[in-house]
Amino acid sequence: MDKYDLVVIGAGPGGYVAAIRGAQLGFKTALIEKRSTLGGTCLNVGCIPSKALLDSSEHYLKASKEFEVHGIKVGKLDIDFPRMIARKQEVVEQTVAGVHFLMEKNGITVLHGMGAFVDAHTIEVTSGKGKSQQVQAERVLIATGSEPASLPFIKLDGDRIITSTEALSLPSLPKSMAIIGGGVIGLELGSVYARLGTEVHVIEYQDAIIPTMDRTMGKELQRAMKKIGVKFHLSHGVKEAVNAGGKATVKADDKKGKEVTWEVDYCLVAVGRKPYTDGLGLDKAGVPLDDRGRVEVDGHLRTVHPHIYAIGDVVKGAMLAHKAEEEGICAVEHMAGQQPHLDHNLIPGVVYTWPEVAAVGRTEEQLKAEGVAYKTGSFPFKASGRARASMDTDGVVKVLAHAETDEILGVHICGPRAADMIAEAVVAMEYRASAEDVARMSHAHPTFTEAIKEAALAATGDRALHI
Ligand code: FAD
Ligand code: NAD
Repeated sequence: MDKYDLVVIGAGPGGYVAAIRGAQLGFKTALIEKRSTLGGTCLNVGCIPSKALLDSSEHYLKASKEFEVHGIKVGKLDIDFPRMIARKQEVVEQTVAGVHFLMEKNGITVLHGMGAFVDAHTIEVTSGKGKSQQVQAERVLIATGSEPASLPFIKLDGDRIITSTEALSLPSLPKSMAIIGGGVIGLELGSVYARLGTEVHVIEYQDAIIPTMDRTMGKELQRAMKKIGVKFHLSHGVKEAVNAGGKATVKADDKKGKEVTWEVDYCLVAVGRKPYTDGLGLDKAGVPLDDRGRVEVDGHLRTVHPHIYAIGDVVKGAMLAHKAEEEGICAVEHMAGQQPHLDHNLIPGVVYTWPEVAAVGRTEEQLKAEGVAYKTGSFPFKASGRARASMDTDGVVKVLAHAETDEILGVHICGPRAADMIAEAVVAMEYRASAEDVARMSHAHPTFTEAIKEAALAATGDRALHI
């Protein structure tokens, strides 16, 4: 039986990055993956393909709606949807091939097959052809990720009642789509299809979209997405979604209890994801789950066994690729006797719509609920010269700072390139900067980042300059 210092189960962004860190630290490392490709949800059916389609659809929207304003004339525009899907797949293939290369470069043994504990130190790997082998592990990292969740009364059939996985590879451009859930997946994939001309209905149970983010962001984003034709149905409780033979029928009750029905080409169910531990044999290893089916870990990401750790979507916390990565690195460094630290409050969250939404730290609603004395400063992109030049004037930056100490407690951006800009706020907050610190830093002109400086100025005594 082959013996390894570290065996990682699951090759998503959490698992493969942890395997690289393990190899860097001198561990003889094996990585077990049941898919034929590495990269997990994120690279195969998540972050990367969704961003590829978001970029393609954004090009189309700009060409059809904005080029003329810039004085650019094009002939009749058309969409080659199969080509768009094929390009997305090319991006995925290039990206996953890069991970295979990284494994080779770092001397990591990749074992393709389903990994299952035989006991706390032995893992059986069964490949699709029924072949199996056992490996001995001094340390184990569980990084098995998550899968789409549904509602108890909705059967996902992959045909008309679909998840994000199918929505990333549809055979033709749908005329209409109902999306259950106004969260991240619903709004990103809703944007893709609405930009391409699909009639998109977002049906959300709560009274706001992206309800866990700062409420101002949801309002700004909803306003912007209405402009591309997305129809929002908030405070609607879905009670049925069925395949009606070549169509999907969705029924919900609005907040007055009145029934609403949609007949659409597809119903995309985007109500969250659930941790994935099927077939992993956690009972054989004596590793318990918590009440929400997640692998239970302590503050160092250790399970009840000091040599078995778990990270990423399969444990508590935000289901984000960069959270999984940072946890993977922390877990492996801790296994190696180091003392890494990760502040989960400073993991940024991004929605890749246009405008993008990006945030770090506490929301205004959280600060209120926690009874923290705070002050706030905002700056709208319509007052930014850079945003006017690029026709990206939707959105706002909001800085929340402690009322007495001025320490930045949260930064929330709905605007152009928010996903990239949020890094400034993460750095500032990692170093416990005050709003005054950011307000006094020179920000290149003209850039979108000036809006962060202006919001920080607004938070420190109403000193914004350009509004
Ligand atoms: P996963 O990526 O789920 O990887 C787990 C891997 O383990 C899988 O490959 C699985 O096959 C394998 N596995 C499971 N069980 C076994 C077993 N027993 N044996 C062998 N292998 C096993 N996050 C972001 O941060 N940014 C984004 O833009 C973003 N976009 C997304 C878009 C979509 C449509 C979706 C669905 C998700 C998106 N996410 C995004 C979330 C992100 O994909 C996840 O948070 C991330 O992939 C979690 O990483 P992970 O390593 O924990 O698990
Ligand atoms: P989500 O938790 O972001 O959103 C789910 C939404 O569905 C919520 O707004 C919720 O109120 C709503 N909902 C729940 N039950 C409902 C019902 N019965 N009727 C109507 N609405 C209902 O989940 P998601 O969008 O499915 O995404 C899953 C995970 O994937 C998230 O945790 C997210 O972090 C991750 N993800 C991240 C990104 C990114 O980082 N850009 C992109 C996609 C997915």
